[in-house]
Amino acid sequence: MADTIAAISTAPSKSAIGIIRISGDDALNISKKVFLGDLSTPRMMSTGRIVSHSGEVCDYGMGVFFKAPKSFTGEDSVELYCHGSTAVLRSVLSALYRAGARPAEPGEFTQRAFLNGKLDLTQAEAIIDLIDSETELAAKNAAEQMNGTLGKEISALSDSLTAIAAEFYAFVDYPDDEIEQSERDDISEKLFTLAKHAKQLAGSYDKGRLFREGVRVALIGRPNVGKSSLLNALLGSERSIVTDIEGTTRDTVEESLRVNSLALHLIDTAGLREADNEPERLGIARSEAAAKDADIVIAVFDGSAPLDEFDKRALELAKKTRSICVINKSDLGCTIDKSVFSKLQVMEISAKERIGTDALLDRICEIFEISDIPCDGKTVTNPRHASTLMRAYERISAAAEAFRGGIYADIAVSDIEHAINILGEITGRSAQDAIVSEIFSRFCVGK
Ligand code: GDP
Repeated sequence: MADTIAAISTAPSKSAIGIIRISGDDALNISKKVFLGDLSTPRMMSTGRIVSHSGEVCDYGMGVFFKAPKSFTGEDSVELYCHGSTAVLRSVLSALYRAGARPAEPGEFTQRAFLNGKLDLTQAEAIIDLIDSETELAAKNAAEQMNGTLGKEISALSDSLTAIAAEFYAFVDYPDDEIEQSERDDISEKLFTLAKHAKQLAGSYDKGRLFREGVRVALIGRPNVGKSSLLNALLGSERSIVTDIEGTTRDTVEESLRVNSLALHLIDTAGLREADNEPERLGIARSEAAAKDADIVIAVFDGSAPLDEFDKRALELAKKTRSICVINKSDLGCTIDKSVFSKLQVMEISAKERIGTDALLDRICEIFEISDIPCDGKTVTNPRHASTLMRAYERISAAAEAFRGGIYADIAVSDIEHAINILGEITGRSAQDAIVSEIFSRFCVGK
């Protein structure tokens, strides 16, 4: 018996329409008390009055009934399409609560879909990725994963391991010295191939991560070299689309933009320079912290002034990490000694005149080229999947090594079984409740 949950599934702001979802055994009865249209035919939209708990009309809208198991959650569900006023949606929701529904927890609709076998975990997680996607490529890959591509890939790997485990069981009844070395080599070879596949999938995360998270670019350099000017020039570039403006942290300003298919998160460490009593010392600490978290560091220098101690620290930081050194203020001429940048990537620009800033964006995109990554859903974009695949890889290779080396079949088989369980954590076949709850808690209410 599934209790009935309800929530607003659209964004909490004024909009043309707002959708309320209701799911559970009593979804139809509860909805009928609030939506006075015809819900008798599953999957058929009808129009009707929507009334508050006191029976007053609060909206005219549409409703549709999805009969279990043919619904997103696998349960009886109703969707109500109201006008997107937050006041209307709130009163419809409270009428539904009074009629017997309870507020849905974050991700509870999707969690129910998972528990009812409508989705595996990779598909459920792909829904969050799809909602969060900032670029078309990220959306495409997430849509493929939502379609079950990655889940099927993992299940196929797991099925191949199960088939090999069955071969092992056949050996368990025989004394180990009766197993021919050639047979041992054959099976080990198969296992090594599967281990390699798991590792390749895990390795796809190196680039897949960029689909999902974009590239973190830290702008570092001493005060007045032109970091903020560069940030503005990059955001204002014709090549970029500013996707959103994230909140400023205490020490840094972060802005996001999209260039081609890549989301770039620019972190300007100039942040609160004015308020600092010891700007240079604090600047160094901020730059170091930002550089540590970044995928690439853009170390900015003022080409019209001699390098000082802080510049040298920035240079040292640039040497230690993936970086591009930018000599700014090229419009004023370059008077610094460029030999200090030997072995580093260097570009001369003028942030003020916007000279060279598009080339800088192009360079970053070249470094993090992702257009060649297949968006077929087999690219791992989720850190949980990547680390779990690596754990499976280790177990499978351990089994392969052990068996080839003459170890008892029943010992090797336990590694394989372990690997199958580990893979099950990705699809949800063997995931512990704690993992499942953690995943769904990252969803928004109404999803
Ligand atoms: P930040 O402290 O590193 O963020 O530096 P700002 O962006 O605030 O720039 C410091 C000063 O340098 C400002 O007066 C800018 O107008 C100036 N500036 C920045 N970029 C350029 C440039 O390319 N050419 C010239 N001539 N001045 C620049």
